[in-house]
Amino acid sequence: MQRLGVLTSGGDASGMNSCIRAVVRKAIYHGIEVIGIKRGYSGFIEADMGPMNLGSVADIIHRGGTILHTARSKRFMTPEGRALAMENVDRFGIQGLIVIGGDGSFTGASVFHQEHGIPVIGVPGTIDNDIAGTDYTIGFDTAVNNVVDAINKIRDTATSHERTFVIEVMGRNSGNIALSAGLAGGAESILIPEIAFNLEDICSKLLSGIKRGKLHSIILVAEGAASGIEVGKQIKELTGFDTKVTILGHLQRGGIPSAFDRILAARLGAKAVELLMEGETNKMVGVRSGEVVATSLDEVIGKPSSISQDMYQLAKVLSI
Ligand code: ATP
Repeated sequence: MQRLGVLTSGGDASGMNSCIRAVVRKAIYHGIEVIGIKRGYSGFIEADMGPMNLGSVADIIHRGGTILHTARSKRFMTPEGRALAMENVDRFGIQGLIVIGGDGSFTGASVFHQEHGIPVIGVPGTIDNDIAGTDYTIGFDTAVNNVVDAINKIRDTATSHERTFVIEVMGRNSGNIALSAGLAGGAESILIPEIAFNLEDICSKLLSGIKRGKLHSIILVAEGAASGIEVGKQIKELTGFDTKVTILGHLQRGGIPSAFDRILAARLGAKAVELLMEGETNKMVGVRSGEVVATSLDEVIGKPSSISQDMYQLAKVLSI
């Protein structure tokens, strides 16, 4: 392996920069050149790429987002688009590709490998933490901390005004952010797409809480479970409580990556380079029970990891 390419794809996640830094520095340490590909598969097709050196990744370890930028590319989903990307692989002399992204990005990488034979390694970078083969994805911990920060602030107002607050968080198909942030932030109820809920039960819980002197209530709703605005309306109708709704939106994604995400990103980025050096392909690096491991992309793609039922039950018990 003399030259590898690296790109970030799909939604941005804090810690992607720490991962790019690890890939570049680990590769250069072993005498491998690195081509940075901008805007995910879009830049791959459009030859928006160039050499990276030690200085290219200086002073980025603490920055959210991705210096390579990210994009979603419809053209890469066609054989013609991927053939154009392959022309750039030849033109830039790339012998292996590291893709930092989520399930869709891995699907693209795997198809590209099957069609054109170039070795590919995936690194899980997505805030949802719903990728099989790894206990954590880069960006999840920072996103959870962002949500917990918001809960802390809203809690002050909720207590002062004795109000019920509904907070809608990200997670179209996954309740992981809502569940972890809800447990860490002490939410009264957590609504996630994986588990059916009954608003009347939630309201009875709110009413009995108020009866025993609770000053406020916080309901966390993953966007894939329900609309926060709708949930707020219905709670107000069913209980008569002054119910406020906050949709956190893109406040959750960015910001300074947590130490956890930076360490995860460093370990996974370095391992991805090692795998390419060992001649491996079509694998994703991940962390399981504290160890860095590699899993075939065939066992990862289209098999989202599920939420922890134990954590869900615990959050329920602790919010009686
Ligand atoms: P996130 O979890 O943050 O949404 P993701 O990697 O799952 O990240 P997607 O938008 O699903 O994000 O995928 C990123 C890109 O991967 C797509 O824009 C497309 O270029 C490529 N891709 C996705 N699915 C395929 C596919 N079936 N074939 C080829 N390329 C694909």
